[in-house]
Amino acid sequence: MRNIMLSKDKSIFLKLLNIIILAMFFLALGLILLIKNNVLHLYLILLIIMIFFFIAGTIYLLGLLALIISITKNGTIPRFLIPIFEKSIKFIYPIMIMFSSILKIHKDPIRRFFSEINNKIVVLKSDKINSEDILIVTPHCLQKSSCKHKVTGDIDNCKRCGACDVDRLLRLCTSYNVKLEVVTGGTLARKVIKDYNPKGIIAVACERDLSHGILDVKGIPVIGIKNERPEGPCRNTCVDIREVEKAIKHYLRR
Ligand code: SF4
Repeated sequence: MRNIMLSKDKSIFLKLLNIIILAMFFLALGLILLIKNNVLHLYLILLIIMIFFFIAGTIYLLGLLALIISITKNGTIPRFLIPIFEKSIKFIYPIMIMFSSILKIHKDPIRRFFSEINNKIVVLKSDKINSEDILIVTPHCLQKSSCKHKVTGDIDNCKRCGACDVDRLLRLCTSYNVKLEVVTGGTLARKVIKDYNPKGIIAVACERDLSHGILDVKGIPVIGIKNERPEGPCRNTCVDIREVEKAIKHYLRR
């Protein structure tokens, strides 16, 4: 099921990227034809610069497309290209979100695929990390809505009753000696990260918060895991504990 969803996300992401590449190409072509047919005399130099810009942009995006296909197909890209690829994907993502708004395309598949590519980059580039330097950040909607205990700010307030995934995450964190924080939003997440200063982050959130978080955190690898929302957004959400464990194991190199 997850694989089907991922290949759907990939296809939407790649289609949108192709639309942007085609738009760049046709803009360059259109300008060339206008100049060739002497329709535009003024601003000739400016137009030539723009043509170069669009052609260079098209080539750059085609290279990016090839790297995306390579990383999703083989799980790897040449090591020396990783920093450029990471910067490029973080640069193009907001443009794709803007395009998806204009074209009225649902944004969640784009966000999910962006987070998936980010995870692959983290797997390729991050070093081995000690367990005490790993921080898991989860949203407070993971907590059972009827629970009276305030776990944001102090996870030890959880009574481990087993009614929600906070308990299961705590078990996992105890067994790996990893820190867990439940946060109410981006501001608290930023504060927790600043205070704790981890070397590796595992973020659990919805597509939108996950992509914002990945773009927001600078200099620390973030593995993003999408939460499940069986009761709709922001209420009694849950997370695949195996995915979280996989991410911990990746950082620990186990
Ligand atoms: S596991 Fe913890 S957070 Fe979840 S309902 Fe029980 S006491 Fe509350």
